[in-house]
Amino acid sequence: MTVVIIGGGQAASQTATSLRQEGFAAPITILAEEERPPYQRPPLSKKFLEGALETERLLLKPEEFYTQHGIELRLGARAASINVDGKSVSLTSGEKLGYDKLVIATGSTPRKLPVPGADADGVFYLRSAADALALKPRLGEGKSIAVIGAGYVGLEVAATARKAGANVIIIESADRVMSRVTGEFFSSYLQKYHAARGAKLLLNAAVTRLETEGGRLVACTFANGEKIEIDTAIIGIGVMPCAEIAKSAGILCDNGITVDEYCRTNIDDIFAAGDCANHYNSHYDMNLRLESVHNAIEQGKTVAATICGKDKPYRQAPWFWSDQYGLKIQSVGVGAGHDDYFISGDPEEDSFSVLYFSDNRLVAADCVCRPADYMVVRKLLQDQTLISIDDVKGAEGDLKSLMARR
Ligand code: NAP
Repeated sequence: MTVVIIGGGQAASQTATSLRQEGFAAPITILAEEERPPYQRPPLSKKFLEGALETERLLLKPEEFYTQHGIELRLGARAASINVDGKSVSLTSGEKLGYDKLVIATGSTPRKLPVPGADADGVFYLRSAADALALKPRLGEGKSIAVIGAGYVGLEVAATARKAGANVIIIESADRVMSRVTGEFFSSYLQKYHAARGAKLLLNAAVTRLETEGGRLVACTFANGEKIEIDTAIIGIGVMPCAEIAKSAGILCDNGITVDEYCRTNIDDIFAAGDCANHYNSHYDMNLRLESVHNAIEQGKTVAATICGKDKPYRQAPWFWSDQYGLKIQSVGVGAGHDDYFISGDPEEDSFSVLYFSDNRLVAADCVCRPADYMVVRKLLQDQTLISIDDVKGAEGDLKSLMARR
């Protein structure tokens, strides 16, 4: 039995590793488009961009790991199409590989800014190690940087650039930062925090054009005609799942590749994991496509277990983290659509947690420099413990006491 994994990121590496841990002894091939063995992406906008982490330390496993475990890691190999009936994958090189089980772990790709000038020298996206290496020299003292999009990438890069001494303007089309993933109170806290560290924030702002001179970026222009001079733009306006290869093979897709709790697609022997997969989440009774390390790892484990005939469905409360300046932000759950929230701790001291409720039930939390709160909420949500806002108020800051309710 041969397993072929399309993709060379966290989910691909985890699937191969977990297959071996589960005792799978047959051939495994990873088709990795990049020339680098699977590596961690979170440091790309933080420590790696700062220069505080060497390139080799990005790797999830040393390259020898794959050889030692009989995993064929094919770097620079791009899958072009899947033949579902013939059970094979064709590469852009023209080569064809047969499979018994196929795992699609193709990840996601940055959304492109749809304005004139977006291909100029000086415009960057941040997804790969190569992107970060190219961007790094542009962040120094006195540089003028526009960060377009105030999501995870935007705010982390803005913090890194400010720490390097650059002038930073953060441009967000929504009326608050991180609106996709958090509530109004936390957005407003982050806005003040970034502004206090010298970043300029423009909300409800639409860049309509990136101005160039001789192909080099010199300014950006807004819908109201205003123009600001910049020498670098970093675009972090979200990502799109890389699901084209699946879609054209007739695999069901809807904002990513549709999978069940076992990461199975609608086609026998084809699985998907990581950013490209859209799964049914029993904790939140909805379909979710998650873009996180935790999701890539856990779905990789689930695929491996399923291939090995073990019953280990993916049932997880999602979690994320972000580092911005000195803030350690840890988030858990899905707070979208919450109707109430409670703050435990002290935002003035940059040590607090915002707990979110839907129908008087705890559904998510953002924790700032409060790892103990985060661990408690994560356990409560993972165990689907019913916690009301009065329970949290009654805890008087001691969230650990809520563990008695599990
Ligand atoms: P993101 O978190 O989805 O944030 C993108 C932001 O850009 C949103 O606030 C979005 O607003 C805004 N936006 C969209 N179009 C815009 C435009 N034309 N002009 C200005 N703003 C615009 O995506 P991201 O920051 O690009 O991150 C990419 C991926 O990397 C995500 O999967 C993220 O989870 C992952 N990542 C995670 C971490 C972490 O977990 N710490 C760190 C880095 C990256 P609307 O929502 O209104 O469209």
